[in-house]
Amino acid sequence: MMANPCLFRKNLSIFEMGDVIVIGGGVAGMEAAGQLALHGCNVKLLEKDNKTGGNMANWYHLFPDRRDSREVLSYLNGLTENNNIQILTGTEATTVIPEGKKITVKTRDNNRMEADAVVIATGFELFNSRRKEEYGYGIYDNVITSADLEQMFRTGGVRLVDGTLPAKIGFIHCVGSRDEKVGNNYCSKLCCITAVKQAMEVSEKIPGIKAFSFYIDMRMGGAYYEELYKEAQEKYGVTFIRGKVSEISVDFKGKLLIKAEDTLSGRPLKMLFDMVVLMVGVEMPDAAVEIAKNSNLKCSENRFFQPADNHFGSNLSGINGVFYAGCCVAPMNITESISHARAAVNEVINYLKNNKQA
Ligand SMILES: Cc1cc2nc3c(=O)[nH]c(=O)nc-3n(C[C@H](O)[C@H](O)[C@H](O)COP(=O)(O)OP(=O)(O)OC[C@H]3O[C@@H](n4cnc5c(N)ncnc54)[C@H](O)[C@@H]3O)c2cc1C
Ligand code: SF4
Repeated sequence: MMANPCLFRKNLSIFEMGDVIVIGGGVAGMEAAGQLALHGCNVKLLEKDNKTGGNMANWYHLFPDRRDSREVLSYLNGLTENNNIQILTGTEATTVIPEGKKITVKTRDNNRMEADAVVIATGFELFNSRRKEEYGYGIYDNVITSADLEQMFRTGGVRLVDGTLPAKIGFIHCVGSRDEKVGNNYCSKLCCITAVKQAMEVSEKIPGIKAFSFYIDMRMGGAYYEELYKEAQEKYGVTFIRGKVSEISVDFKGKLLIKAEDTLSGRPLKMLFDMVVLMVGVEMPDAAVEIAKNSNLKCSENRFFQPADNHFGSNLSGINGVFYAGCCVAPMNITESISHARAAVNEVINYLKNNKQA
């Protein structure tokens, strides 16, 4: 959206609620910044990249309703075009430290900024598929990730490296999630439903393509997910195989050979594909791990920030005046990220009001 470095501010005015720094300009950070500004807070939104929108800006049509991600981005851009918000792109926060009643945020370029409260909304980064060497990402042509496929949808077409259309496509679930070998025991929550959505999209774009999904379990734990899963099978003829993939290799014709164990029948399985999509999991970003270390903020065993209480305090960091919003605490879809950001705003406003009265 904006060039780097970038600073927007219109019509400076006196703000009543206090100064808040939001770290991370994805869905959660933008929603939090926008809502805080509407409450009269003076907000600085720090984003390490040169544009806002976070990971969502890289997706094409979103589950569950297949809405274009640009619609959500446009809503968030509208919300953050507010006189009370300064957007600082190309600005990476490294440390958050309380100093008296104020919170200081240090940035990579050694700047210091002060606020009455801070919202951390640093989100996630994608698992690096090269770490699963046995799947051949970066080694074999036509082994791509779910994020690459979103880009292909956006930029005009799903094609093999030689420019032809794939006739058979395989989706492999749980790449970098539920996997002790890579140190990620947790479920990334977003990738089963992404596989369902992508298999439907591919089938629409390439009529007659055969799509197969290799899953450990299908985790359809969100609103309308199950309906989408049913539609994928009944309307689009997507085949779901309960199978654990051990390896991908290339046969003498250059086709991708998936070796798996069909975990329902207990039999080994070999199938050839033109294209294989790895459903990559999500991880705590390195930039957020650094904030946690520098600022003594607790992380869970999954390395995401650990909120003060999973039931009643999922926005609270345990440090007064420092709050969490969105996927920095756990994988969430967009609906959940927006709700979590709004809940964080509620906590911030109560905190600022109480601070004023004290
Ligand atoms: C493949 C895939 C497809 C998906 N598709 C859908 C879908 O169709 N529908 C749906 O509902 N959900 C989908 N999701 C989930 C969706 O992407 C998330 O809900 C959303 O991105 C969460 O927003 P967030 O702001 O919490 O995190 P993020 O999007 O990760 O944003 C965090 C931001 O913080 C910035 N940041 C990080 N560290 C720092 C720092 N130290 N200083 C400054 N900035 C920092 C990052 O650069 C980033 O811009 C999908 C997820 C994946 C993995
Ligand atoms: S959501 Fe599905 S693909 Fe993703 S980690 Fe969980 S079980 Fe695996």
